[in-house]
Amino acid sequence: MLTMPSLPTRTKIKSLAVLTSGGDAPGMNAAIRAVVRYGLSLGCEVYGVYKGYSGLLEGQIVPLSASSVANIIQRGGTILKTDRCEAFYKRSVRREAAHILRRKGIDGLVVIGGDGSFTGAHLMERENGFPTIGVPGTIDNDIAGTEDTIGFDTAVNTAIDAIDRIRDTASSHDRIFLVEVMGRSTGFIGLDVGIGGGAETILVPERKLPLEEVCDTVERGIKRGKTSSIIVVSEGEKPGLSTRLAADLAKRGYSAKVCILGHTQRGGSPTAHDRFLASVLGASAVAYLCGGRSNAMVGVQNDKVTLVPFKNVIGKEKKIRDELITLAQILAS
Ligand code: ADP
Repeated sequence: MLTMPSLPTRTKIKSLAVLTSGGDAPGMNAAIRAVVRYGLSLGCEVYGVYKGYSGLLEGQIVPLSASSVANIIQRGGTILKTDRCEAFYKRSVRREAAHILRRKGIDGLVVIGGDGSFTGAHLMERENGFPTIGVPGTIDNDIAGTEDTIGFDTAVNTAIDAIDRIRDTASSHDRIFLVEVMGRSTGFIGLDVGIGGGAETILVPERKLPLEEVCDTVERGIKRGKTSSIIVVSEGEKPGLSTRLAADLAKRGYSAKVCILGHTQRGGSPTAHDRFLASVLGASAVAYLCGGRSNAMVGVQNDKVTLVPFKNVIGKEKKIRDELITLAQILAS
């Protein structure tokens, strides 16, 4: 069970704001709710910033009450909307953002997002002394310094649900299916989905399998009497990987269907796990910020909420566990 930092009953700051930025993830709403309600419980004023850093620069900042976050814990997406903001890469623009927040009387900012959003927050604090704190929200689970991110569990469950359905038709028609899941540079989703969905083969960006090996696995399965196979493929950097693989398999005499799950993995009601994680991390972010800590992300390490300096998070690689790749191969054989 996840343990939290001790919750303060007093706050060093009077007012804080929260925004969501970058790619959305199921559970972001639960995190917003926790930030708002916990902040209010400490006597802080809490503001919501719409549309990430773009909305911040446009002054789309509104006070939030406990009731403005009612009935959102079960909703996917983000009620605050999210955006990508090119302008925020400029130092002068980040200075202007800090001015806007200060002019509103806001003392600290909670940023729910991924590595890019944390980079913006870190620079804004370093250059302007404006306190920021990050909450990891991304389906990819590719943020260093935390074992888990908000939205990952939901995305994995959505994909596994799809695989269960695909397996029904795959076995009825004796077909090979290539199921493409999200994950451009990391295979966290692919690995969990592949293991949990009982895939025959898993292809992740960290360990590229030669086509020969994929064909061998399919062939071994057929020899053992398997008439259908599910191959989980992380999308990788270049679009169309599973379609290219299907074409290669066809050249070797195997007919494979392709199913790209795409953005279905981004949406939907968050799982109980993600709601819980988001609630705990959202409240912990406020606890740290109100206790005078900042320039850091709240993360999970060994089932404990920890505060990790942004400099140990941003741009750092999070490695997939090799033993899980090996396990996936053993279980599929
Ligand atoms: P994520 O937070 O999900 O990784 P992005 O990488 O798209 O998403 O980043 C979201 C936003 O964070 C960007 O549109 C930009 O406004 C800000 N951001 C990202 N990288 C930087 C950077 N190096 N400097 C300043 N701001 C950045």
